[in-house]
Amino acid sequence: MPRATGADAGFRRSDRSQSPTPRTGRGRRARGVLGRLTHLLLPPACSGCGCALPAEIEYLCPGCRTRLRPPAHPRCFRCHAPRGTGLPAERPCPECEDWPPILEGARAACVMAPPAGSLVHALKYGGWRELAPTMAEGMVRALGPIDLPADAIVAPVPTTRARLRARGFNQAEELSRAVAHSLDRVHLNPLRREGESGTQVALHRHERRANVERAFRPAERSGSKVAGRYIVLVDDVLTTGATACAAAATLGAMGAAKVTLLTFARALPDEDGG
Ligand SMILES: [Zn+2]
Ligand SMILES: [Zn+2]
Repeated sequence: MPRATGADAGFRRSDRSQSPTPRTGRGRRARGVLGRLTHLLLPPACSGCGCALPAEIEYLCPGCRTRLRPPAHPRCFRCHAPRGTGLPAERPCPECEDWPPILEGARAACVMAPPAGSLVHALKYGGWRELAPTMAEGMVRALGPIDLPADAIVAPVPTTRARLRARGFNQAEELSRAVAHSLDRVHLNPLRREGESGTQVALHRHERRANVERAFRPAERSGSKVAGRYIVLVDDVLTTGATACAAAATLGAMGAAKVTLLTFARALPDEDGG
């Protein structure tokens, strides 16, 4: 199992290096040596734009922090998709109108515009797990002052065993642990994910939905823990919502009361496909 990195792990300056290296066995060792070397020679860089960071700032420069934009108003009350000014408020939102009722809403810290993609990429492929608490700060803010029961559960969208083996960790779980810590709620892994055919990236909305529809099943002995609970389902990016719909439907079948999706970034409505 990957080491849990929560908000309590804090930021360790010695972990920062100019270029993130995957945290696989050899990568980790190389990163340790290289990290110490580059740290001596080069100042730490912003994970958003690559600029040199002053000593007192960690991971993200002030410019990149302000460039992370929440979904613009007016937006859908349910999924927070920006609706554009020309769309009548009474018209159903094309983003979420076919979501299952159990998935009552979606919130995201920012839209998928620079530098959000760099952060997502650094966490997911660069292995910069230390970024998760910083990203989770914005996610908790995006959740807003909702009435979250004390027994609510924070749960990640799981990844497949193959991807877990290849990457060493699930980026959604890194985020969900940090979110659970910040919200002071229980963290649980109630779902398992079966292998899917091929990558999701190149698929259209209906193909993606068919691909993930049967991807999730309950984790062993998690049904009783989920029954009747409010679930904050965490993922790194919301694109079409197909993955979240399938995961939420499985949680619903397990007896969950309702599910809110919480992601770091969301694709803009006209950017289907990521
Ligand atoms: Zn920056
Ligand atoms: Zn919507």
